[in-house]
Amino acid sequence: MEPNTPLRRSFVSSDDQTVIVCPNCKFVKPLSVSQFRDRKHILQIKCKCGHTFKVQLEFRRYIRKKVDLEGECDLDSTKGEKWKVTLVDISFGGVCLELDILHNFKVGEQVAQLGDMSSVK
Ligand SMILES: [Zn+2]
Repeated sequence: MEPNTPLRRSFVSSDDQTVIVCPNCKFVKPLSVSQFRDRKHILQIKCKCGHTFKVQLEFRRYIRKKVDLEGECDLDSTKGEKWKVTLVDISFGGVCLELDILHNFKVGEQVAQLGDMSSVK
């Protein structure tokens, strides 16, 4: 046993493929990990040589998803007024909005009451 073996990282490509390398025998195993996408996951791997080790899957930090959603928003700086927005991009880090007004967003500005979001998948 190797109790202090550091967790190995395995980087996952955009098509959900990764390659696991056994630290013992160097056997290379391609693996499809689409079911683990969008969350961190530690896999317990048992190699054909009998060696067992853990691999941490590293997905891209922010995965952007192109969307095209209409909604309404209510900006902090223009209280009470509703603006039509189109949501074009969603990621864990935030969203990308297109507004039909000119508005200089400040970093951290809250956008409230986004409506019609039920079709987000
Ligand atoms: Zn092995």
